Amino acid sequence: MKTLATLEPLTTRLIEIRRIQSAASVLSWDQETYMPAGGGAARAEQIATLEGLAHQRLVSDEVGHLLIKWIDPATGSAESTAEGWDEPSRALLRETWRDFNRAKKLPSDFVIRLSRECSLAQQAWVTAREESRFSKFLPSLKIVLGLKRDEAQYLGYANSPYDALLDTYEPGATVAQLAPLLTRLRERLVPLLKRVQASPVIIDDRCLHQSFDRHKQVEFGRLVLTAMGYDFDRGRLDLSAHPFTTSFHPTDVRVTTRVFEKDLPSCLFSCIHEGGHGLYDQGLDPRYYGTPLGESLSLGFHESQSRLWENCVGRSLAFWRCFYPMLQHTFPQQLAEVPLDRFYAAINRAAPSLIRVEADELTYNLHIMLRVEIEQALIEGRAQAEDLPGLWNDKMQSYLGIMPERDAEGVLQDVHWSMGAFGYFPTYTLGNLYSVQFFEQAKRELPQLHDDLEAGRLLPLRQWLEQKIHRWGRMFTPDHLARRVTGSEVDPEPFLRYLEEKYEALYRL
Ligand code: ZN
Repeated sequence: MKTLATLEPLTTRLIEIRRIQSAASVLSWDQETYMPAGGGAARAEQIATLEGLAHQRLVSDEVGHLLIKWIDPATGSAESTAEGWDEPSRALLRETWRDFNRAKKLPSDFVIRLSRECSLAQQAWVTAREESRFSKFLPSLKIVLGLKRDEAQYLGYANSPYDALLDTYEPGATVAQLAPLLTRLRERLVPLLKRVQASPVIIDDRCLHQSFDRHKQVEFGRLVLTAMGYDFDRGRLDLSAHPFTTSFHPTDVRVTTRVFEKDLPSCLFSCIHEGGHGLYDQGLDPRYYGTPLGESLSLGFHESQSRLWENCVGRSLAFWRCFYPMLQHTFPQQLAEVPLDRFYAAINRAAPSLIRVEADELTYNLHIMLRVEIEQALIEGRAQAEDLPGLWNDKMQSYLGIMPERDAEGVLQDVHWSMGAFGYFPTYTLGNLYSVQFFEQAKRELPQLHDDLEAGRLLPLRQWLEQKIHRWGRMFTPDHLARRVTGSEVDPEPFLRYLEEKYEALYRL
């Protein structure tokens, strides 16, 4: 049986490539957090140079020859070669072959250009969003959109060019699979929202929008992150315009949040959300750094971790039985007179709103659907960049019944399109569906989980997630790992039942 030791000539090269990419990630993190605005153009070149270098090394003849030595290029599988491989080696070869082939389809000068234009577009987006002027972002968006359409052509696809981009983030996913899931969600969520809106129960969430000291908010976020088992010796919490998590190695995983004086949930839930992402990255096996076995499986899986912590844990009554007294202690003036059940109802209030990252669990996926429809139309050429604000506002009206007055609260709110991340949004919905599937499985396998949460003991859940999901990296495909953990592939039913039960109780439907 051949093991990973045989693959050392390959893994040595993969690790070197990953180090270059990690260095680029440090530069991106800095760009989003501390870099002075004047550094933008130079930074874009620095990152593009490193990305180009990493790409050239991956598609090199050296790596190609090593792979073909062990893999049957016709099937992409190591199975048919004479001697048997152990499971990690087979997975490493399968996934490296996938990365190599995808990378090989993109010319190096295209990769460098895409990286540079996306860095510049992201900076243009920050300014446009601050000024709430879509027209300021439009020229950059046109360039990025054009490049992403080209990318889909380079990568190739069977049905829609959008599939080629979606596959980057969620291996194996296609629009054809996704569409029925979204339809099923829409068919159950829209009526549920109508019932909630018709309910005589009015949830007052003004207690969350008093004046809360920003510094104390961040400190409370830090406290919750620590309780979740996020390791600050291997991580940091900083501020950025759009909360995100980035990892350079399992020993250095950064999360960010944002904080508004009059909006307690924003900082609180983005800390818990990014903390869930951070735990995944800290939970990857450092022995496999640089190889696919040391990487997260897909963005849908990544998002399942953040949403599980944010919603299944962070918006549960059990969790707040322990943490609410601490929150009251942090903000006595604002919360001493607000009982737990009122606070719990306030953080779960469902109402159509403009901003995706602050949407409740019920309306969240409607925000995703409109983005997926728009970006699919853009990539397929059925819509143009200029059409965006109009399309956005029409769809907001038809899905959520409201319309933004300013671009900053509408089409400019998300960073994704400026980063060239077309095909990314569906992974949010997949993550929501997986999050409930995994949490229900954790409840079955950890009978004391409810008591643990009530007592603020969050580590058993983190360990379960680490054992079942984090440490495997890309050893299995997403479908395979979902079946391994829960017995089934992605399934909207547990998520829909969870939401219906939760909102029926809250709104006495
Ligand atoms: Zn996330």
